Amino acid sequence: MFTAFLIKYAEIGIKGRNRYLFEDALVHQIRFALKKCEGKFLVHKSQGRIYVDAEGEFDYEDTVECLKKVFGISGICPVMYLEDEGFEKLCDSIVRYVDEVYPDKNRTFKVHARRARKDYPKESMEINADLGEAILKAFPEMSVDVHEPDILLSVEIRERICVYSETVPGPGGMPVGTGGKAMLLLSGGIDSPVAGYMIAKRGVKLDAVYFHAPPYTSERAKQKVVDLARIVSAYTGPIWLHVIDFTAIQLYIHEKCPHEELTIIMRRYMMRIAEHIAKETGCLGLITGESIGQVASQTMSSLAATNEVCQLPVYRPLIGFDKQEIVEVANRIGTFETSILPYEDCCTIFVAKHPVTKPNVKIIRRHEHNLDERIEELVNRALETKELIVV
Ligand code: ATP
Ligand code: MG
Repeated sequence: MFTAFLIKYAEIGIKGRNRYLFEDALVHQIRFALKKCEGKFLVHKSQGRIYVDAEGEFDYEDTVECLKKVFGISGICPVMYLEDEGFEKLCDSIVRYVDEVYPDKNRTFKVHARRARKDYPKESMEINADLGEAILKAFPEMSVDVHEPDILLSVEIRERICVYSETVPGPGGMPVGTGGKAMLLLSGGIDSPVAGYMIAKRGVKLDAVYFHAPPYTSERAKQKVVDLARIVSAYTGPIWLHVIDFTAIQLYIHEKCPHEELTIIMRRYMMRIAEHIAKETGCLGLITGESIGQVASQTMSSLAATNEVCQLPVYRPLIGFDKQEIVEVANRIGTFETSILPYEDCCTIFVAKHPVTKPNVKIIRRHEHNLDERIEELVNRALETKELIVV
């Protein structure tokens, strides 16, 4: 019965030129998302609305699932199209629609008709009344409630007649691409994919960087990060994943710096390298999955120490989240199962028994000077041997 979807979006403040940018980006993202669905679709703007028309056979459930991943969509209304074959036929079709969509008739309803075509022989009020009557006649258990109906049945008279009443909630947010681009530090853990999802939801396109430390971290650990990027890309569109071989840098820090400071110094180099790639690729910020107090490297002092090495803003959308809250989002967006696969994302030799929780930035800087001899060369080599995976 349904052969199209009306796409609802609701962000205040998208006026004038911004409205077009918003709508065009949304159309673009919808087209991308639907590539993964079976069937052919026509995505078009018409009179300030966005429609997805199925052309021929399509998988309804699958299509709705894909649309539910497109940021910027607040609601997805399945639409039944009818040819205009006279008012009698319209009444029959509407009755059939109500019968099929609402097996339980014990409900209130209201018809909301709109004429986009003024040559239609009845006015909106009259259509409301007459269709209402036809429904009541067919299903006497139903009743009209014009203030708070259970079912609001929209009937739009255009070239064709467009009927809808149900809304599947969309993810909300802004279409990806309307908010610039940021570099996500993506590890194989639970937090960073969620962090990327949250920033992308505000319209930001993602690039990602993963610091790989072979042979201390395995190929499978890297594959897990690629898999996570792929799951996130179902919401965001293609992600360029930069893989940095971090082993030599980690070993060098391990050799030259106090072990309690290993994590902090390592994280400072991760941020520096991520920022370098970010600037090269036009990213306007960095994103991490940090949350205050979660581990030693995420205390306020540790965050201050990692933060001070970059100029770009660092977005930490999970900063005030408890682990359980992060897990809930991870489950909802489908990254959790992959994140908890037991492939090590950091070798134990790089984890100190008693990491500093209140690093003193001056001392950290001083200890980083122990690296002066070779660090520049190692960082440059890591950047030169960077691997790019487009997911
Ligand atoms: P996650 O669950 O995201 O791995 P975490 O709780 O394990 O986070 P940390 O290991 O301290 O926390 O890392 C904090 C943040 O630093 C991560 O959320 C991620 O953004 C970034 N990060 C850590 N390790 C890596 C890595 N190997 N490659 C890329 N980014 C990383
Ligand atoms: Mg981690």
